[in-house]
Amino acid sequence: MSMAKAERYKSTCSYCGVGCGIIVQKDQKGKVSVEGDPDHPVNKGMLCSKGMNLHYVVEDKSDRLLHPQMRWGKSHPLEKVDWDTAINRAGAVFKSIIKKHGPESVAFYVSGQCLTEEYYLVNKLAKGFLKTNNIDTNSRLCMSSAVMGYVKTLGEDSVPIAYEDIELADCFLVTGANPAWCHPILWRRVESHKEANPDTKIIVVDPRVTQTCSLADLHLQINPGTDETLYLAIGRCLIEQGDIDLDFIEKHTDGFEAYKEIAMGTSLEEASIICGVPVSDIKKAASYIGDAKGFLSLWAMGLNQSAEGVNKNLALIDLNLITGHIGKPGSGPFSLTGQPNAMGGREVGGMATLLASHRNLANPEHRKEVADFWGVDEIPAQPGKTATQIFEGLEDGSIKALWIICTNPLVSMPDARKVEAALKKAKFVVVQEISNKAEAIPYADLVLPAAGWGEKEGTMTNSERRISYLNKFTDAPGEALPDAEILLRFAQKMGFPGFDYKNMGEVYAEYCRMTKGTNIDISGLDYDFLKENGTVQWPFVDKSKGGTPRLFTDKKFYTPNQRAQILAAGPKNKTELPTGVLPLILTTGRIRDQWHTMTRTGKVSKLNKHIPSPFLEIHPEDAAERGINDGDTVLVNGNRGEVRVHAQVTDKIKKGVVFLPMHWGKILKNDFARANNITGNAIDPVSKQPDFKYSAVQVSLY
Ligand code: SF4
Repeated sequence: MSMAKAERYKSTCSYCGVGCGIIVQKDQKGKVSVEGDPDHPVNKGMLCSKGMNLHYVVEDKSDRLLHPQMRWGKSHPLEKVDWDTAINRAGAVFKSIIKKHGPESVAFYVSGQCLTEEYYLVNKLAKGFLKTNNIDTNSRLCMSSAVMGYVKTLGEDSVPIAYEDIELADCFLVTGANPAWCHPILWRRVESHKEANPDTKIIVVDPRVTQTCSLADLHLQINPGTDETLYLAIGRCLIEQGDIDLDFIEKHTDGFEAYKEIAMGTSLEEASIICGVPVSDIKKAASYIGDAKGFLSLWAMGLNQSAEGVNKNLALIDLNLITGHIGKPGSGPFSLTGQPNAMGGREVGGMATLLASHRNLANPEHRKEVADFWGVDEIPAQPGKTATQIFEGLEDGSIKALWIICTNPLVSMPDARKVEAALKKAKFVVVQEISNKAEAIPYADLVLPAAGWGEKEGTMTNSERRISYLNKFTDAPGEALPDAEILLRFAQKMGFPGFDYKNMGEVYAEYCRMTKGTNIDISGLDYDFLKENGTVQWPFVDKSKGGTPRLFTDKKFYTPNQRAQILAAGPKNKTELPTGVLPLILTTGRIRDQWHTMTRTGKVSKLNKHIPSPFLEIHPEDAAERGINDGDTVLVNGNRGEVRVHAQVTDKIKKGVVFLPMHWGKILKNDFARANNITGNAIDPVSKQPDFKYSAVQVSLY
């Protein structure tokens, strides 16, 4: 018997938005190993613990869904069926519900881990053919406040920087993020830069002392939720110090006078009390920024996951705008993407409020352009329901059928018990998944087994607008199919034209044509170019010119008058304030070696060793007041539910604040470690992003 040849493929890590390049080796027996791609511009051969262990996830098929399953009625068990039966049922139920209740009665809830082609197809299917804009994504929980921050200030959802700006910056403001754990390879580049240039200043803003703080020259341990006040206070100092760029402000921005009035409306002493940081530290942060030739602001969920997420984004981006630190080397506002393809999804219009190529659903001309391109009569004008609204729709009966793709909402959505109640009320739930551990499966009427990373081809876009092609290097187990293939079969079953692609390259080519003439034009791009030349940053209009590392170098922004908008609303905390009964503030977040709801990283014993079980971080004084010692089992109570975990008593968290990791779901029967039992449905009014970072709780010994 002849042995197969060893094979080598290029891919991109499927976890965080850093987008590290990976070389996959398959030996003669088909065994897979991974290593960092030394030629990749993002990671230059490095991988973090999660990326390094991706091969375990590929090889361990023990929890994989292998066959479609269906139940004939709510009281019946799930039964194995063939693909034709499964797709026929999905088609029949969607047709019947739409006929009876209208297109707004169905919805799709997808993921920032979907490939761009999958995102494109599900949006075309829903918005173009099913005639509903009820297609939203878990990126709503992650990036939507940053999206609206960019749209309002710069005119579009366009991250202006390139990673190469890291090595050109001499001041970093890292806020609402712990990149040392959550964007590790990017942070290693910051560490190396600081090591080579010790005068580089790093300011970290966080109520917790995280691993990121170990590199900080200044840690502002603020009270949760007070970020906006802090940035405005820093802005005030910059104005008073004369460290603003008046020439840039005058020539390229609007709104400075209104901003100045708001910033000067709060004294540094008042800001110091609100934020819980000394005036001297606010001044020091401003002097670091004021002295910088290159200033990068970096942020993530700490700002975005807030009922004031957009305003926090605006106040932070304003610091780059008033100092003119944008569109030049080493400078710019840089939102750290959580998921590997949150940006790619947004490019193709993968949210209830967007259309492909950064077109705006609210704009009739944009809707007509998209309808004409797809050959349909119209795109519905009514905005779709966003993530939390979709589950509210299930609960109030306005949504009857939900199709969940590649996400685990019973762990990741706020107020998870409300999500459980909503799924129970649904008439029809489709769960398209790789893992039989996904907690929505017991609520599913139809379970569709999907292919995972390496089992399908497609593209993704990372945090710096870098598009990469991901190779298929292994077959999916059982009868699992690529998500795109499942969607195509469904669209064909529904009788929709325009879904007869021969391969994924054709899907991508169609999307690339759609971008022509827009600010994210990639009409010059195709699979062949990506396979031959590696990754590119959009816009990419012409193969001879290549991609675009840095935006706005000409200082022409994407707003109607091409001027950046300096906008500040002034802080108003609209979240759940602590009370005598619930006196502590709960904030949630990630740990180093787990990813989201652990359906993949939780399978890797090496990763589980880092932090094997859920915990509550609590300050020693708060613990002592409650008779709690390190390691004790504690009950965390909030307005919506409770969590039972062990206490980690540490002065690394601010007094009055407690922290739960977001990864764990129901780990034992009747024993809950799910942080989202407690978090609430408060959303930002503009971005509709939920607030995971501010819930009133009490903690007691169990
Ligand atoms: Fe993967 Fe992110 Fe780690 Fe890079 S930093 S290896 S993209 S998880």
